[in-house]
Amino acid sequence: MRTRMFCVFSLLLAAVLCSAQTSSPSSSIPHEIPVFDTNAIDKSIDPCVDFYQYACGTWMKNNPIPPDKARWGRFDELFERNLYILRDILTEAQAPGKRSATETMVGTFYGSCMDESAIEKKKTAPLMPELERIHGIKTEADLMRQIAAMHRNSISALFDFSSQPDMHDSSETIANLDQGGITLPDRDYYIKDDPKSVETRQKYVEHVEKMFELAGDKPDVAAAEAKTVLTVETGLAQAAMDRTVRRDPKTRDHKMTVAEIAGAAPNFNLAVYFADNGSPRFTSLNVSNPDFFKQVNQQLGTMPLEDWKVYLRWKTIDEYAPVLTKAFVEEDFLFNGKYMSGKKEMEPRWKRCVKATDGNLGMALGKLYVDRTFGAEGKERTLKMVQAIENAMRQDIGQLTWMSDTTKKKAYEKLNTIVNNIGYPDTWRDYSTVVIKPDDYAGNTVRAEAFDVQRDYKKIDKPTDRKDWRMTPPTVNAYYRPPMNDINFPAGILQPPFYGKLMDDAVNYGAIGVVIGHELTHGFDDQGRKYDAEGNFRDWWTPEDAKEFEARADCTANEYSNFVSVKDDKGEVKLNGKLTLGENTADNGGLKLAYMALNSIIGDTPVKPLDGYGATQRYFLAYGQIWCQNVTDQEARKRVMTDPHSPGRWRVNVAVQNSAGFQQAFGCKAGQPMVAENACRVW
Ligand SMILES: [Zn+2]
Repeated sequence: MRTRMFCVFSLLLAAVLCSAQTSSPSSSIPHEIPVFDTNAIDKSIDPCVDFYQYACGTWMKNNPIPPDKARWGRFDELFERNLYILRDILTEAQAPGKRSATETMVGTFYGSCMDESAIEKKKTAPLMPELERIHGIKTEADLMRQIAAMHRNSISALFDFSSQPDMHDSSETIANLDQGGITLPDRDYYIKDDPKSVETRQKYVEHVEKMFELAGDKPDVAAAEAKTVLTVETGLAQAAMDRTVRRDPKTRDHKMTVAEIAGAAPNFNLAVYFADNGSPRFTSLNVSNPDFFKQVNQQLGTMPLEDWKVYLRWKTIDEYAPVLTKAFVEEDFLFNGKYMSGKKEMEPRWKRCVKATDGNLGMALGKLYVDRTFGAEGKERTLKMVQAIENAMRQDIGQLTWMSDTTKKKAYEKLNTIVNNIGYPDTWRDYSTVVIKPDDYAGNTVRAEAFDVQRDYKKIDKPTDRKDWRMTPPTVNAYYRPPMNDINFPAGILQPPFYGKLMDDAVNYGAIGVVIGHELTHGFDDQGRKYDAEGNFRDWWTPEDAKEFEARADCTANEYSNFVSVKDDKGEVKLNGKLTLGENTADNGGLKLAYMALNSIIGDTPVKPLDGYGATQRYFLAYGQIWCQNVTDQEARKRVMTDPHSPGRWRVNVAVQNSAGFQQAFGCKAGQPMVAENACRVW
């Protein structure tokens, strides 16, 4: 159904990425992507005036956004290539002959997704069990029982429930209750009164109405229901905490007993919910936003039960839409793909099905992917670079003039404890209890998602499983987890354009090296620094050093807030420097650390220029080029509200403006745009 968000600091937001053209199943895997591409460069631009335009100008001109995409960049090129590889694996897995249990499982799942005629024949049948249960709700307790049932099947409704490491003892995992239940990507869509937000709500109501009609409701009924959905969700949005405020872990740190939260929000009938949601029994938990529960408690007390039933019907239909008939899939695309993201057309079915297989059985498909693409030597090579960049950070901390030795000692301790996870997990997930049938795509999806929910709930009140991965091996991304204090690089990203076996160090350090440094810096950004070496939310800074850090972080936040993300007929939107603070800190830190590591390898040995560029120039160009991208205005608008990462242009230009190494490499002088007047630097 839909991808769930999870709380890790990734390199880029998990994006919905699709294809350029409809291709026949026999079309072959696209060529490997160049790591360093002189054809991407626009030599008519002065690198000291606009480095991003210089590094990527020709690439951007030659790579317009394909009609079925909202964003097209070099990450997406690689992801696209991975889709072809995965399709080959899935096509072979379906072919007759002796197959392993893993192959049979992923092949059958993929086949069930591709079988559109079986899906059409079922019409709205997959929705019916859930809708009938909702119809049968008679009391407030029934309502909570139904929400528990929906959560078991991974259908979002009213609030979120999951497991997470205890913020004060990360070795134990506990239950966590959180705000939730809205459908639009952020609470601000429901609250803001600017013309674009008003228009978005109007389009949303029209979309909900159409979906209710597809589910069989009469137009006038559907219209009234859509308005009810907006009213319910607006209440939930008003009670929700702003995502920038939530960056501070303190705002989410509320351990309490079940009796305490149940007493503070009696209309939630939490005792009924916990008894029915399939989680083990527990007596204490964390509540990320207790005020949400107190405020919505009132809404639950005043709004008629019938309105809540309408809302639950909507959440069910919306969640199921991608696995239902063409009519549902198309209406879902018109709103979420076209209106919200600016895609012109839907991606071909096979790509959606490959992604669905990765989303639902990703650790099984991932094993087959790793067997085919990633040898043990891939792990070793990456580990060597990780160690070189960790050494650079050690050196960097040692050189800081603003940090006391007391805090430095703790910082080293944290750095030395970081766990490096590379490529794929040590043990593969066992999906053998998930029933996958050839002609039951919706059922397969629900069962796979229910399995995932159970896997998550089973962690409650158990020792934390630090070896569990949050991204599947083919994913083109990387992440850091504060409670685990680990950096993770899936196999999908450890290839061109991020890493080239035959490339010079300068280029590999500028690409994957900066990615490694970026993830490492997350352990020490505005959020990460608040967790200690064990992953506990605990202050290990002297008050003076914390003040020095905050001053430097504020500099970065203010610096990025000056730049414009999108300017269209609906007006101009600037970056939110506070929302993107951690990622911007990581970009600047990553660029600095990988540069230090490269210089310690090169030393004083002269390196011959290649393609007309010296080693340090190649380093910065490789960095610039991993962010070459084109984005639709609609997608840029959505991301500025929801994405903690800055757009590619600013990830590159602001980081190099702050880099003395860059200015030296390209001979940029004070007063030129790529030389910041007051360069911000945290790490
Ligand atoms: Zn990041």
